[in-house]
Order: sequence, then structure tokens, then C-alpha cells
Amino acid sequence: MTMSKSTKNEIIKSLNLQKEIFGDEMFIPKKKRINRVVKKPSTSFTDQELFPVEKQDWEKTTSLNELEKLISNCTKCRLHSGRNKFVFGTGNPNADVLVIGEGPGAEEDKQGLPFVGRAGQLLTDMLRAIKFEREEVYIGNVVKCRPPENRTPLPDEMETCMPYLKKQCDLIKPKLILCLGLTAAKGLLKKRESLGDLRGKVFEYEGAKVMVTYHSAALLRNPHWKKDCWEDLKKFRKLYDAP
Ligand code: URA
Repeated sequence: MTMSKSTKNEIIKSLNLQKEIFGDEMFIPKKKRINRVVKKPSTSFTDQELFPVEKQDWEKTTSLNELEKLISNCTKCRLHSGRNKFVFGTGNPNADVLVIGEGPGAEEDKQGLPFVGRAGQLLTDMLRAIKFEREEVYIGNVVKCRPPENRTPLPDEMETCMPYLKKQCDLIKPKLILCLGLTAAKGLLKKRESLGDLRGKVFEYEGAKVMVTYHSAALLRNPHWKKDCWEDLKKFRKLYDAP
């Protein structure tokens, strides 16, 4: 097939234009190209860069009070339909210590406050035992609405609610986090290990040190775990006191 001069010129013009845009990479002679490893771009685009999503108001807020106002009528998961009160969390907004439970029980759902039932009383005692007052720490939960019959929150409920806890954590900026029970540990740390494997270790979440111990409700059912929990709590306090 013969090609007219003007077509050739058109092709050359177009190739030169491509070269101008893409550089020499495309024009290496064939021989040299053999075995050549094509360099990957050093950075890749994130979803957010390619498809920027406008942040919602609650994500932009800079105060816990404002955050509570903006999220407390949340209907993102099925748990909202059974709630009396949204249990946002309570305590010192500048706390060094954040304590995280699983989700509200009956009393919490009635009062709109975390850990106000029997497990809450025991938590207050546990904190006192390591010289923290409730008011001095911040107490929250992985899910903010009571699961029916106090069942464990389902993975999709936890996933839906976790961004709220993450935002609380961003605002409070605790130095230390204490996860009460496996649900809190799974929600925060995305770990699959057993509670036995997670206890006694120090993890990290958004710049804070994290420890995992028994949930106070579990201790009410199994008081013989209190001894091990006491060891965890002493270690937690030591971590807090460490320079
Ligand atoms: N159990 C929890 O995990 N959270 C509460 O707020 C109360 C009991």
C-alpha cells in the first residue's frame, strides 16, 4: 500500500505532538525496548483525587457539641429504628484517655448516656482503681444506638457508625485508648484475633496508644476474669504515666 506524502506528514505531525506531550518513553527504538521495564508512575491517584466527594457537615465540624447535634438523628443503619436516644458519648472533650465500649444497653438508651447501667458502675470503679475519675476521661461506644435485645452489633452496623467514633477521636486527640471487649477492639483496630491474644499488647490508632481489656459487662458475668483485667488496667496506667 502506498501512502501519500500528505498522509505521511499528518502521521509525523501527530507523532511529534504525542512526543511533545508524553516525552521520549514512547519513541525508544524497538531493539532497545526489549526487556525494558516500563516505569510506573511514582504516585498513584487516590479515589478522593479522581472523584472528589464533598465532605458532609459533620465531617467538617471542629467541636464535639456540634458533631453531636449534626449526627444525633442519624438513620444510616437499622439500629436507629429501635432507639429511644442516640448515645453520643460523654466526658472531657480534651481527655488524654478515651474509653470505648460496644454499644448502648437499655439504661443508656433511656438516658442517652454511655455506661450508666450496672456495667457502667463497674467501669467507674475500674477507672477509680487506676486513679481516673469518669469526668476526666471520655467514654464512647462503637455504635451509638442500642442493638435489639443487647445483641452484638453486626459488622455493617459497626462499619456505618465507626466514622463517627473516628471523628470523635480526631477532635478529642486522646493519648491513650482503652477498648472494653472484643467488639470495641475489632471496630477500632480491625483485628480478628481473640481477646486473649489482644490483651496485654499495645496497639496504635491515629497517634494514640491502644490497649484492650475485658468489657465490664463480661466481668459482671465472669468475676474470675477481674484478676486479669486488673493486670491490664495497671499496665494501662503505667503507659499513661510513662514520660
Ligand atoms: N455497654 C457498652 O458497651 N456501652 C455502654 O454504653 C453500656 C454498656
